[in-house]
Amino acid sequence: MPDSAIPQTPSNAPAQAGTTWHILGAGSMGMLWATRLARAGLPVTLILRNDDRLQAYKAAQGLTLIEDQDSQQWSISAQTPETEEPIQRLLVTCKAYDAEQAVKKISGRLTPDAELILLQNGLGSQQAVAAQVPHARCIFASSTEGAYRDGDWRVVFAGRGHTWLGDPQQGPAPQWLTALELSGIAHEWSENILSRLWRKLALNCAINPLTVLHDCRNGGLQAHEDEVNTLCAELSALLEHCGQAEAAIDLATEVHRVIQATANNYSSMHQDVSQGRRTEIGYLLGYACTAARNRQFAAAHLHDLHQRLSELLRQRGLPCN
Ligand code: NAP
Repeated sequence: MPDSAIPQTPSNAPAQAGTTWHILGAGSMGMLWATRLARAGLPVTLILRNDDRLQAYKAAQGLTLIEDQDSQQWSISAQTPETEEPIQRLLVTCKAYDAEQAVKKISGRLTPDAELILLQNGLGSQQAVAAQVPHARCIFASSTEGAYRDGDWRVVFAGRGHTWLGDPQQGPAPQWLTALELSGIAHEWSENILSRLWRKLALNCAINPLTVLHDCRNGGLQAHEDEVNTLCAELSALLEHCGQAEAAIDLATEVHRVIQATANNYSSMHQDVSQGRRTEIGYLLGYACTAARNRQFAAAHLHDLHQRLSELLRQRGLPCN
């Protein structure tokens, strides 16, 4: 389907002045957020890795969002980290293993009242970023939306979902949530975002590594029920030990429900490994194992799983962190 003309100021959206949404990491999630914010008439600027990426973006003339068979291109402004413009609101949509280095490059541009929204999966990267920008407010986010790139500067909105945002320091909900409303980004302010992130991490640890090791779709784990149950029991105990008892409630039940509901899907980790891409293991299973070790909590099955997965990644020439 041909892309429609490049809209600059959508006629159905109110012209909005206000704080620019700087978006660091123009991959699947970055493009999904950028195009929806721009569609609502909000000011958005992409921060691209370097000048080569900026020139490639300029040649493409914008980002394309593919949604419900419809495809529309948006001409969104872009710059490199070296640009001197101050940043007040920054959405970080790099992978967990890139977030800290990427934020470091722009930290000098943050205003004293800057806010960062961290959209990384797992745990560990958010804390590393927050430690690097102690004067900025860091909002953590957890999303069940699904998106993938079907070409350079093109994103397919593959799965509708929800995004929970929250402040680990228990600050109030920010005013700019109305911008998400306006942009049609389904969201909710969470009073306990860490619990939500831990829960998602535990679900991921119980499913994704096993799908890689058994080389199967999620539904293939129905043949390994005992192994899944053993991991769920250990993960639940670990969550409780880490002060995350709420995230442990009925974990095994939800894991089996997810396995059943997504039986035909390959997990994101399976897709990463089969396509030779780096995984976020260090911020998922790796984080769980480190948390167990730091608390002298025995987690033999998690450590064994981590070791087996790391070995497989090494054999494929992929990083284990
Ligand atoms: P992605 O498509 O790989 O996008 C990451 C982007 O970050 C890439 O475009 C990459 O640039 C860019 N980047 C890396 N280092 C950078 C730097 N120093 N400066 C500027 N840009 C930099 O990843 P994603 O799928 O959007 O995932 C982002 C996070 O969201 C992950 O933690 C993921 O687990 C989570 N998440 C994803 C989904 C989903 O459906 N995709 C759903 C929920 C959560 P290049 O293009 O130049 O490499």
